[in-house]
Amino acid sequence: MSVSFKGVTKRFGDLIAVKNVNLEIQKGEFFVFLGPSGSGKSTLLRIIAGLEEPDEGEVIIDGKVVNRVDPSKRDIAFVFQNYALYPHMKVYDNIAFPLKMRKYPREEIHTKVLEAAEMLGIRHLLEKYPYQLSGGEQQRVALARAIVRRPKVFLLDEPLSNLDAKLRVRLRFELRKLLHDQLNTTTIYVTHDQAEAMTMADRIAVINKGEVVQVDTPGRLYNNPVNTFVAGFIGTPP
Ligand code: ADP
Ligand code: MG
Repeated sequence: MSVSFKGVTKRFGDLIAVKNVNLEIQKGEFFVFLGPSGSGKSTLLRIIAGLEEPDEGEVIIDGKVVNRVDPSKRDIAFVFQNYALYPHMKVYDNIAFPLKMRKYPREEIHTKVLEAAEMLGIRHLLEKYPYQLSGGEQQRVALARAIVRRPKVFLLDEPLSNLDAKLRVRLRFELRKLLHDQLNTTTIYVTHDQAEAMTMADRIAVINKGEVVQVDTPGRLYNNPVNTFVAGFIGTPP
């Protein structure tokens, strides 16, 4: 599904967290919001998910204005930075949870959990509890739980930031392969890490103080930054 912003603004009191954002994210695109801490990236994702309502403008998913559509009625999955798993549930039940909540039949739940676990290489972990897993394994479980319903739009908020450097680099490629190449979902990914953005994105929106400064492919951002903020952030040599 495509996702668009038309003149979207979000304020928290006097603070303008998101300022007049206009964007069109294509179906199947791997789209990255890149910006420093506090630039409004999470707020943008939360607006797409329906966890925040914009003060001005429209959010459009698949051609429909969704400003007032309940989060549970949007065909969207969200993975947060700290990907909290349910500690008292086995991995299997963590992954099955979104389907159980929606009262899927037992057989279908079983098939879908196994499929998701297979994709993320965690079938051998299904009977374990979260505390028995490493950070990277927990992250895979969180991803399996998010893809189990095969959402059309996938939102990820700094999903790799709690992992060690080596795993982070490996998961960049795996995530893109899974979401973009295998599932062909529309993925909207937030990070402050320019290397992550440059290696994963089809297109990047560089965000500063709530505003979209430039939207382009990694190559074009690198070669044609519109200003010194983008150049500095992308790391273009002088
Ligand atoms: P980022 O994800 O890029 O670090 P955020 O979207 O979390 O940035 O925040 C953007 C700005 O909005 C920050 O200044 C933050 O403090 C502020 N902010 C975010 N959420 C709230 C909230 N619920 N109440 C008040 N201020 C908020
Ligand atoms: Mg954030």
